Amino acid sequence: MLFFSLALSGCALILPSNIPISEPISHPVRFLLTFDDGPSSSNYMNSTESILKDLAHNPVQPGIKALFFVQTRGATLHSPGRELLPREYAEGHLIGFHTATSGHNNHRFLSPEDFVASLENGIADIRNATGTAPTLVRPPYWSYDTRTFAAYQAHGLHMLLTDLSANDGKTWGFNGSPRRRINLHNQLAAMRAKMVAGSLPVVDGVVPIVVTFHDTNSYTARHMNEYLQILLDVAKELNIPVSDQAFYKDRSALERAALARTVKDGSEPVVLPGLWGWIWR
Ligand SMILES: [Zn+2]
Repeated sequence: MLFFSLALSGCALILPSNIPISEPISHPVRFLLTFDDGPSSSNYMNSTESILKDLAHNPVQPGIKALFFVQTRGATLHSPGRELLPREYAEGHLIGFHTATSGHNNHRFLSPEDFVASLENGIADIRNATGTAPTLVRPPYWSYDTRTFAAYQAHGLHMLLTDLSANDGKTWGFNGSPRRRINLHNQLAAMRAKMVAGSLPVVDGVVPIVVTFHDTNSYTARHMNEYLQILLDVAKELNIPVSDQAFYKDRSALERAALARTVKDGSEPVVLPGLWGWIWR
């Protein structure tokens, strides 16, 4: 239990880069916010609803658009989750696929038939809710292999992992994140060398930095505005230039950026957040 708490709550074992922060970076970054596991079907202080409100109205940048990797079956079939999925799209956000099974199933552990059925169901569910098929997928538990990756590709789904993680996937019991600031600082610091080297894609003049939260997490929902400010603060501390538009405000620009950051080859080495790389190695 402790093991999974560490893996999911906020104790990322990532060391800051040794490259001095005076090394210049040629392109500013823009934060691409993603949310997994929603929409929430809670009838009491719904966390997805709270996050939608804060993205639209906040002191940092009103009108932020984000990418929601949704679960289309299970709890989401019930109100208010059922209504929140089309609402996310109607408010200008982008919808990606996460699961379409009754639970948060690891795609690798489903039978081949159930896995393909879940992809087809999820794509159909999202098309029914938004009028458009998803182009992006995020595997539950960051778990994939060459077989599941190839199936994503065959269904027109491009796989997006993450650069920064709030490590807030644990939504039961104590789900606070007292180390949220240092956690994001350390993860962004670890990326700085790539920015200096220019090895991250530039899209529309900026380097998109993918950030992952869980919109089913009530703590995240209560601290959304603070998280927005923390991202700007840690970039400043690390001398990383941020675009005047620090967060995406347009769905099609967000989709272009997300697609540029997807994994192109199912066997290429990747970095997974927290302890997940160690778990799946
Ligand atoms: Zn998930």
